[in-house]
Amino acid sequence: MFALPSIAAIPTGVPGGVVELRLPQSTTNVFFNEIQQLRLDNRAIVAIPLITTIGDHVVIAQSAKSTTELPFEVIEKTYREQHLTVENQRLVNPLAEDMKRIQAESALIQTAYARFSPMPKRLNPIALPVRGIVTSEFGFRRFFNGQPRNPHSGIDIAAEHGTPVKSPAPGVIALTGNFFFNGNTILVDHGGGFISMLCHLSQINVHPQQQIERNSILGMVGATGRATGPHLHWSVSLQGTRVDPLIFIDVINASASAE
Ligand SMILES: [Zn+2]
Repeated sequence: MFALPSIAAIPTGVPGGVVELRLPQSTTNVFFNEIQQLRLDNRAIVAIPLITTIGDHVVIAQSAKSTTELPFEVIEKTYREQHLTVENQRLVNPLAEDMKRIQAESALIQTAYARFSPMPKRLNPIALPVRGIVTSEFGFRRFFNGQPRNPHSGIDIAAEHGTPVKSPAPGVIALTGNFFFNGNTILVDHGGGFISMLCHLSQINVHPQQQIERNSILGMVGATGRATGPHLHWSVSLQGTRVDPLIFIDVINASASAE
């Protein structure tokens, strides 16, 4: 018998998840679908949009001397439906006069999500911004009062009104505001295109441009905006792509460079 050459397993991820890829030495840029990806030391944390097709994909790693294709596979994940009842019908079917406000707020949020600050030195360990039960997962296909809406762009964590909300990682406050759907909201720029959005707060304790540390208190849990009870909504955005915060935490915290 001859030993077969060992075949390295191709990394896998799911639509709405992330995949960690080891990078060749001296990599300076990593692209997936022509979008620059998050890099931590010799690894890329690649954001996989919800609409990504199942099957084989490649990431492009560039250095000063060469370009390398790094393969990975996207495998299927089934996202459940979730039906929610909101008493204030206006939060499901906004009035014409609300639309101008909603569009202006959406533009502010998209601008914050488009930030691309220098790569973070390290992210491990990332913690949930509050402790509690996840009552709505990322990617749930949601219906409000029976009407279909966009897939859930983050996770909902149930917690008591007034529970402190802590920053999952260091960063700078990109945006704060009181928004139609999201209520009192904070966006944190953690670097490398990684942006957190925290919504439905009862209180905001930070201001734009403020530098914050891991576990800095950002605000308090509430039920402002389109909320059925006190909870924290946390979105993780990587270069404008929302990904599952729980998958992101697992990948970052399991990373080989954990100290
Ligand atoms: Zn939510």
